[in-house]
Amino acid sequence: MEKTTLNYLWINGEKVSTSETLDVINPATGEVIDQVPNGGEKETKLAINAAYEAFKPWKKFTPKKRESYLVKWADNLLENRDELAAILTEEQGKPLSESRGEIEGCATFIRWYAEEGKRVYGEVITGSNENQRISVIKQPVGVCGLITPWNFPGAMVARKTAPALAAGCTVVVKPASETPRIAIAIFEQLMKTGIPAGVANLVTGKASVIGETLFEDRRVKKISFTGSTEIGKQLMKRAADQVKRISLELGGNAPAIVFPDANLDLAAERIVDNKFENCGQMCNGINIIYAHEEIKEKLTEKIVNLVKELKVGSGSVPGSDPVQIGPLVNEAALKNVEELLQDAKAKGATVLTGGERTGDSKGYFFKPTVLSDVTLDMKLTQDEIFGPIAPILSFRDEKEVVEFTENSPYGLAAYFFTRDVNRVYRMAEELDSGMIGVNGTSLSVPQAPFGGIKESGIGREGGFYGLEEFLELKYISLTLENTSGGY
Ligand code: NAP
Repeated sequence: MEKTTLNYLWINGEKVSTSETLDVINPATGEVIDQVPNGGEKETKLAINAAYEAFKPWKKFTPKKRESYLVKWADNLLENRDELAAILTEEQGKPLSESRGEIEGCATFIRWYAEEGKRVYGEVITGSNENQRISVIKQPVGVCGLITPWNFPGAMVARKTAPALAAGCTVVVKPASETPRIAIAIFEQLMKTGIPAGVANLVTGKASVIGETLFEDRRVKKISFTGSTEIGKQLMKRAADQVKRISLELGGNAPAIVFPDANLDLAAERIVDNKFENCGQMCNGINIIYAHEEIKEKLTEKIVNLVKELKVGSGSVPGSDPVQIGPLVNEAALKNVEELLQDAKAKGATVLTGGERTGDSKGYFFKPTVLSDVTLDMKLTQDEIFGPIAPILSFRDEKEVVEFTENSPYGLAAYFFTRDVNRVYRMAEELDSGMIGVNGTSLSVPQAPFGGIKESGIGREGGFYGLEEFLELKYISLTLENTSGGY
């Protein structure tokens, strides 16, 4: 796949260029690697026009026919996995192994929704009199605007586009400006399936202008947004004007709670896997580790030992000794991590390992860091860290740790480690989060509803729940003239 083939938008099945462009930066070097179109109102309107026209026939296709395009799309992604992973890593920074996993994850989600699209059933309800027949049908909502972030720039495009198309909707996708090339490349593979023109469109460029055009146009019936809570709140207010349907997958502040009866080796390993995946830039990533006071010292030692083994470097280096920690996505993300650490240190936190930039590169690298002597007045316990810092706090009992977590406005994910089955249910029911991981920290699978409560969002991605986000209910009441007919 040539680099030069990624300088365009996809509108009505055609490649479209713009005179203005946006620089794309490699976070491992700080250098510009490419320019993509800086689309605005004109391009977004063209994309909406195309999606609107394409909706009329696409919604009438059988789910089986829609499935055929989605399955081909997944196959194309897998066939081109390594090239796509290289594009993803180059602009986002994560290690190649994680990027390959993300492309495989895209294919898994797409295939799952290709199948699930065939299971959109209605309902028949008993009427209120002998002549009435009530049926409930589910129909695609229409043209959807899908806005995606940079941290999982492939997965988020697939996770929104696949259920939307499977449900019979058509889409206009706006990817994050840090990572537009992987979205363009993933779309290229969709276009190669021969999917009818206009069903799926992609516009890179000015976020607020593209967003406003999507919200303003009454033909766009739904917005699905993944990104920060701050922008999500603005979009929710904007959606109110037309009572436009909106789903929001927003930020998180996940606790990982380790009880004294837990398998500490397993807990340390899974906490480190989750916390440092994607350089700590994961919405369901662990933000705070709560270690029971009896095992805090032991657990801390195990975590620090594992973190010291993590290799930091450019994610693009292939070979037998790959890195586990790439750069942060940009200079602003790096500064944010440094400020949070500065605040924590000023309030008494101790750095057990890491705590600084790597210093030998122009890229945005920060050493994986573990902190102890952490208190809840430190900003990094309240905000989403979104970087490779693991703060460890201790707690006395279940009640205290639940109270600690309840103060957070977020409610995306929570993890805990225990071997007590009674505690599993007690804690899982008590913690205020959309997703709970017990003795494990991996949550993203196609069949389960991924999403948060409180300020972490509204709606779910994954499972049939994810398909329902793109379906409307319609109730049909039929009144028969004659029900006896001589019988
Ligand atoms: P962001 O700044 O909110 O941006 C997300 C997307 O929204 C980007 O495409 C961005 O475009 C666009 N955008 C920004 N302002 C907009 C506006 N006024 N109107 C319409 N679109 C607008 O978030 P991010 O920094 O890319 O992503 C990180 C955040 O996403 C974190 O908080 C993370 O927790 C969250 N996240 C949540 C989930 C989940 O499932 N809950 C999954 C992944 C990430 P530009 O790039 O052009 O500004």
